Amino acid sequence: MTQETAIPKPLPVPDEASRPFFEGARAGRLMLMRCLACGTLRLPSRRHCDRCLSPEVEWVAASGRGRVRTFGIMHQRYHPAFADDIPYNVTVVELEEGPRLPANIIGIPNSELRVGMEVVVDWEHHEDVTIPKFRPA
Ligand SMILES: [Zn+2]
Repeated sequence: MTQETAIPKPLPVPDEASRPFFEGARAGRLMLMRCLACGTLRLPSRRHCDRCLSPEVEWVAASGRGRVRTFGIMHQRYHPAFADDIPYNVTVVELEEGPRLPANIIGIPNSELRVGMEVVVDWEHHEDVTIPKFRPA
């Protein structure tokens, strides 16, 4: 008989560029970057605007609402820490502000996931970081 040691899930480590995103998450706000030159919104960690390449940016809170753009159901164990979660979904949520965020939908069985479903952000708190998840709106 083998005894497995619980393997922790890999978690994001905020860096200088993404810290405002994770500080917002800790406070329950989904933060986006907004280009100061053209107003285009984007997810953190890209230095330059996708539209005009400006590096000038401010942080703004998104509504937290969006729709399921697409999703996949993972049946394969890609990392031992996720073994108990199989099958789990990996979903691309299109925020109502436009940017698309990869996340998990929680609160419903995977069989009820639908493209176009309205979802709202929820939060998974860990000791050092808070991660956005989504649930049906
Ligand atoms: Zn721009």
